[in-house]
Amino acid sequence: MFYEIRRLNFGSVTIDESMRLRGISPGNRIDVPAQGFLLLGGSAPVLVDAGYRDVSVLGAGGTVAPGQGFEEQLSKHGIGPADLGCVIMTHLHRDHAGHLDKVPMTVPVVVNRSELGSACTGIQGRAYAREDVHHLIDRVYTPGAIRFLDLEQSGPQEVLPGIVCRLSGGHTPGSIGIVVPTEEGEAYLCGDLFYDVEGALRNQPTGTFTAGVQPSALATDDPALSNNFTTSVLQEIGATKHALNYRFIVPAHDDPGVIEGGRYIGRITGDVIPGTWQP
Ligand SMILES: [Zn+2]
Repeated sequence: MFYEIRRLNFGSVTIDESMRLRGISPGNRIDVPAQGFLLLGGSAPVLVDAGYRDVSVLGAGGTVAPGQGFEEQLSKHGIGPADLGCVIMTHLHRDHAGHLDKVPMTVPVVVNRSELGSACTGIQGRAYAREDVHHLIDRVYTPGAIRFLDLEQSGPQEVLPGIVCRLSGGHTPGSIGIVVPTEEGEAYLCGDLFYDVEGALRNQPTGTFTAGVQPSALATDDPALSNNFTTSVLQEIGATKHALNYRFIVPAHDDPGVIEGGRYIGRITGDVIPGTWQP
């Protein structure tokens, strides 16, 4: 069974460029897309991640352009929130869980239990939006509205035919990666494990060590890591290397990367995966 993956864009998020990769000097603000993904080809469309509810919850702001509303992005593909079979969350940060309250309670949200646990502790401040957490707690108390994964104990779980969720090991302790079979190989929807796939895997910054700037990896075949994770460095680098096992690395804030033989060979700039790619 194969799926086609469609990119959705729920608006931009303004970040400091140094968040994308260790070794980039801070001070330059850039906009990155807050993407979700539709998985088409099963009995019902599946949504992965759901953007942010409002720019007010973002740290440095963002922009929602005309047509980037939640229902508008879905309607471009001829579906509405009630048509979804489920929503699978890579993690619950404020730029991913924002529109879940627009999804009917009859459509289950699939989430790794430890991720929701982390969101409730306040351990990352406002990286998790209060309104998003409140909504998810409402789902916990509504039969059928949430489906918990316990990937730390269970190991990888097939949640729908061919779609396997596994513990990411990176970004946040409860983050997951979603393996989706396509006609051209497996895609790995990895949330925020990568902010810059090409930079991490092919064009690593060569920053020297200065105050506030982490150098890139010393070993030349190690990937460069982002500057935004709450796991250990050891976990993050292992999680990053795991992503090289797949044909496509599909992050939330960058173009999908194409992998061959464990190496980055190009990016998909269109909205369909698999699709044409550029070296
Ligand atoms: Zn994000």
